[in-house]
Amino acid sequence: MASLPTHKSHEPSGFVAPSSYLRRSRGQSHPNPTQMSYGQKTDSESAIDRDQRLGLERIRDFLKVRTSYDVLPLSFRLIIFDTSLMVKKSLTILIQNGIVSAPLWDSKTSTFAGLLTTSDYLNLIQYYWQNPEAVNRIDQFNLSSLRDIEKAIGVQPLETISIHPQRPLYEACRSMLESKARRIPLVDVDDETRRAMVVSVVTQYRILKFVAVNVSETQLLRKPLKHLKLGTYRNLETARMETPVFDVIHQLVKDSISSVPIVNSDGVVTNVFEAVDVITLIKGGMYDDLDLNVGEALKKRSEDFPGIYTCSIDDRLDAIFDTIRRSRVHRLIVIDEDNRLTGIISLSDILEYILLEGEGE
Ligand code: AMP
Repeated sequence: MASLPTHKSHEPSGFVAPSSYLRRSRGQSHPNPTQMSYGQKTDSESAIDRDQRLGLERIRDFLKVRTSYDVLPLSFRLIIFDTSLMVKKSLTILIQNGIVSAPLWDSKTSTFAGLLTTSDYLNLIQYYWQNPEAVNRIDQFNLSSLRDIEKAIGVQPLETISIHPQRPLYEACRSMLESKARRIPLVDVDDETRRAMVVSVVTQYRILKFVAVNVSETQLLRKPLKHLKLGTYRNLETARMETPVFDVIHQLVKDSISSVPIVNSDGVVTNVFEAVDVITLIKGGMYDDLDLNVGEALKKRSEDFPGIYTCSIDDRLDAIFDTIRRSRVHRLIVIDEDNRLTGIISLSDILEYILLEGEGE
């Protein structure tokens, strides 16, 4: 594992450094995007449609002239794991550094070996569940054995897509959408050795925040969500506070989703169990906490949990971009006036909408 302080050689013009995120403590009320929206509701429908199209065009133009490199802050650190690192140690390092993924480096071949993400730990848990006798060996697994585990349970291997940092951001977004990856490593070639060199990792959140900060035409996106094809509103995977964590992990893996809303018997959203919550549960290589139910597991959540963001189908993308600019949002849970679950808008849904809406096949 290496922790590298990395500096960019220059600051691209117009780049706005990420401001400090608004961290919301537990129990605070959710932000209401409607209160943060711009524009007049008296506009005629056709003017709203035109503005929506114009706003999307501006965002796409911006993504085509900016590169992934532009998204990076002036100074950042990069943590890379060697594939020989033990799984247990990798968990400790992730938690200590407050990160949820890391590029992998195979030092035997001096090659980039893909991106380690929460999905890999979920796969490991699935393997452990299917092969209880393996529990004694689990401590001896290193990161390269994750590939064998993934083969054994028949799931997609580690994410291996990457992009050159100087390619247009639009390409990075398309590549993420096609591979359903939520983050993409930036891989360059070292001039001297001609070997691959991992520069950084760009997430969907960082890209959307970069758009929110730099593209003022996001304010033109004033069409209510109920008139957009954005988000998932059917066959939502949910769980209860009493649901065993193991069952939720199956849901996450089965549907390749990053979270499951927790609802009560009336369908009211009371919390959200996220794939990243699993990392805290298995830290130190202890898998006993997976026997907990959701309610017990969520009590172990770290204090800096950024909160759950909600919106209604009457909210609009201009306000959602405002929220993304101010806060580290990973998804919005769509609720009705009684806080009952209506849908989920994930960052991949937003990325897909801004890239592909109206583009045909
Ligand atoms: P995510 O993994 O959160 O980026 O979401 C990937 C896709 O699955 C998006 O289209 C989401 O709208 C959808 N999705 C996310 N969570 C759920 C869920 N709990 N039930 C059904 N679909 C979901």
